[in-house]
Amino acid sequence: MNSWEKNVRQVIPYTPGEQPVGTDIIKLNTNECPYPPAPGVKRAIKDIDTEMFRLYPDPEAKKLVDAIADYYNVSPEQIFVGVGSDDVIGMAFLTFFNSERPILFPDITYSFYDVWADLFQVKYETIPLNDKFEINPQDYFRKNGGVIFPNPNAPTAVSLPLSRVEEIIQQNQDVVVIVDEAYVDFGGESALPLVDKYDNLLVVRTFSKSRAMAGMRIGYAFGNEKLISAMKAVKFSYNSYTMNQAAICAGVAAIQDENYFQSIVSKIISTREQAKKRLEALGFRCTDSKANFLFASHRFVPAEKIFNELKSRQIYVRYFKKPRIDNYLRITIGTDKEMEALYEALEEIING
Ligand code: PMP
Repeated sequence: MNSWEKNVRQVIPYTPGEQPVGTDIIKLNTNECPYPPAPGVKRAIKDIDTEMFRLYPDPEAKKLVDAIADYYNVSPEQIFVGVGSDDVIGMAFLTFFNSERPILFPDITYSFYDVWADLFQVKYETIPLNDKFEINPQDYFRKNGGVIFPNPNAPTAVSLPLSRVEEIIQQNQDVVVIVDEAYVDFGGESALPLVDKYDNLLVVRTFSKSRAMAGMRIGYAFGNEKLISAMKAVKFSYNSYTMNQAAICAGVAAIQDENYFQSIVSKIISTREQAKKRLEALGFRCTDSKANFLFASHRFVPAEKIFNELKSRQIYVRYFKKPRIDNYLRITIGTDKEMEALYEALEEIING
């Protein structure tokens, strides 16, 4: 070992879902939207004056912040934007989780949380979900250095009612509570109305799922002005120009098309409900999903076997070889055509 290697920060990075290349692939493994972004996004990108690329972008991304503020009827000072919600959550860890006490999050949850905690050297404790994969708010009524959980949770897809989310925030007013609402548009109850009531609440959202723009990398958060200005101070101490000009334009166009947004979200929800019935008919049990994916376990056939067999047929779903969930598959809701191909393949794997 060279002596410089002793000073290298040791991290085990987050493992994202595979991004296979090629045609004829059915990709239901990373919770992307199966439909394109709003038509206005294409026009906005086409109309970009590329001359302007010689200039740095607005570090405050004011156009995008104002468009989000308008849409949700909050003040621009209550909004933080970043390069996907991963960037926003990472910044929030760096800004708010500096206590001697451990932060708390569920044992089964977004697998980036423990990675950020390790990277930023934040102590953490995981709290087991109950047997139905639900969060029990009482488990979070104890001294801690902060709380984070997704609602709906991932990869379980289970949603916590707003009254129960509020119990967690209410009992933890001496720390920052982050509610990661990446999937909330697909049927969850948002904690956004609580932002004015609790100055310790940060609600994080993304354009990656319900606004069909994972590739553009836009995330945002709502919080009290003090929370937001603390996050900006940290961000501007690290990299001011994270939001590029194209992403700002595309984000504004996406948030302005309400009809398109509603139409793709309701289409995904109806395909999800149909998919749940079809999977149950094939012998799967699914959680009550309020997200754009199902979390499913087959009564007899091991999840890992189904995962591999689907993959050999070019159908990608997500499998986590982790305690408690190693017999489950996380299946992103695709188009109806993609879902039909999935049912056909599952039928073959299970009954054939
Ligand atoms: N939170 C949760 C719970 C997620 O599943 C994801 C998607 N991987 C993210 C945040 C991050 O999404 P993005 O960075 O694309 O906004």
